[in-house]
Amino acid sequence: MQNDPLSHGLWEKSAPPAPVTDALTQHLQADVVVIGGGFTGLSTALHLAQQGVRVVVLEAVEIGFGGSGRNVGLVNAGMWVMPDDLPAALGEVYGERLLTELGNGPSLVFDLIARHGIDCEARHEGTLHCAVGQAGLAELENRVMQWSARGAPVSLLSAERTAAMTGTEAYTGSLLDMRAGTIQPLAYVRGLAHAAIAAGASIHTASPVQDASYANSRWTVKTTGGSVSADWVVTATNAYTRGPWPQLRSELMMLPYFNLATAPLSAVQRAHILPGGQGIWDTQSVLTSLRADRAGRLVFGSVGALRGVGRDIHHAWGRRALARLFPELGKVRFEHQWYGNIGMTTDSLPRLHRLAPRAMSLSGYNGRGIAPGTVFGRMMAQYITGALPEQDLPLPVSDVRAHAFRGVKETFYEVGAGLSHLVSARR
Ligand SMILES: Cc1cc2nc3c(=O)[nH]c(=O)nc-3n(C[C@H](O)[C@H](O)[C@H](O)COP(=O)(O)OP(=O)(O)OC[C@H]3O[C@@H](n4cnc5c(N)ncnc54)[C@H](O)[C@@H]3O)c2cc1C
Repeated sequence: MQNDPLSHGLWEKSAPPAPVTDALTQHLQADVVVIGGGFTGLSTALHLAQQGVRVVVLEAVEIGFGGSGRNVGLVNAGMWVMPDDLPAALGEVYGERLLTELGNGPSLVFDLIARHGIDCEARHEGTLHCAVGQAGLAELENRVMQWSARGAPVSLLSAERTAAMTGTEAYTGSLLDMRAGTIQPLAYVRGLAHAAIAAGASIHTASPVQDASYANSRWTVKTTGGSVSADWVVTATNAYTRGPWPQLRSELMMLPYFNLATAPLSAVQRAHILPGGQGIWDTQSVLTSLRADRAGRLVFGSVGALRGVGRDIHHAWGRRALARLFPELGKVRFEHQWYGNIGMTTDSLPRLHRLAPRAMSLSGYNGRGIAPGTVFGRMMAQYITGALPEQDLPLPVSDVRAHAFRGVKETFYEVGAGLSHLVSARR
């Protein structure tokens, strides 16, 4: 993408083409203008257009340029935080509502994929959250208990069962969540764009929004080449935000995350490593994720940025760590590598803001954005059309609050991940 192999790596190579779009060069009238062409913006546009709303999406670069085209592709239910922590942080009503919405999030994603015939390597066979050591296992026991109390189809698997499903004996157990699955994320977000256009939405790429002004109850949003007037503006720029509302950047701490992809494995190796096609991630604080793509490549990821010295450190760590998990792979070689930024909030919860009258924003998914972005996009469409009153939203409308010590933390996590990978897997 943009001739940068480190931005979208394998996903750029294997995704079906995006719809043909061009830069905004004229003045348009619409009901809603959406800023950002990722899961959130395109789900908003799709669900609005399906209701006959005139919607224009403005994307600064290309569809899926942000986290939506760079991620691991684990379509998970809920957030990173423990289920019980949501009602504790948001109150019983919002907390349980959000848990229900996000618990059902993967179903919405896989339904949209089926309904719109999106070719995105979708596998709806669960994911495995794998325990490292006894502390990891205790965390998962707790998670299983809290989700089970809400009727979710999750189960705790023994170390032996986990080894059979992953192909490695590195884990002390795992949480199997049958709501979840995997997708090729860039293919999914491009599919959402095709579906939104088919429903009547307009999408302009290479159209960075630079200014937004409000007069006579209408918004005018300007790009370098044109402008759009609309009743509503939805900002869905998340960790890649730039433009008219700089405060959105101030509340997110950027956590870099990278992926490395092997050549396709042999049939014998695939029969042993992730044979059921589940994607996995572990309970370590510098976590590791692993999944296979349709061609049988392993996509191995962790915290860190592939830039400067970090690039060599993370690459070398990846080769050592994957060989240690699966000695039968021998000398591991990666054919693709890429990375992106995850937007983290202080309490690990997403944010819904009213930036100004009829100017809403959604952000802060903390590394869980496929299902939440899709769900919140639909929620935003329902809110704008009046189908969902403000008091029934699953997220409270909150004020923007800057993330304290953001710069220090960003440096700490990037350097810390490098140091952790420098020493780990050598022991
Ligand atoms: C490496 C990585 C791994 C991840 N793994 C997972 C995972 O396995 N599962 C999961 O659920 N989530 C994962 N995530 C998180 C997930 O990818 C994000 O939460 C999600 O993509 C956010 O979607 P979005 O549409 O809100 O924002 P984005 O996809 O970031 O889209 C925002 C868009 O806004 C555009 N934009 C910004 N400013 C402007 C402007 N002024 N004008 C016009 N356009 C603008 C950007 O160019 C960008 O395309 C991961 C993220 C990363 C980076």
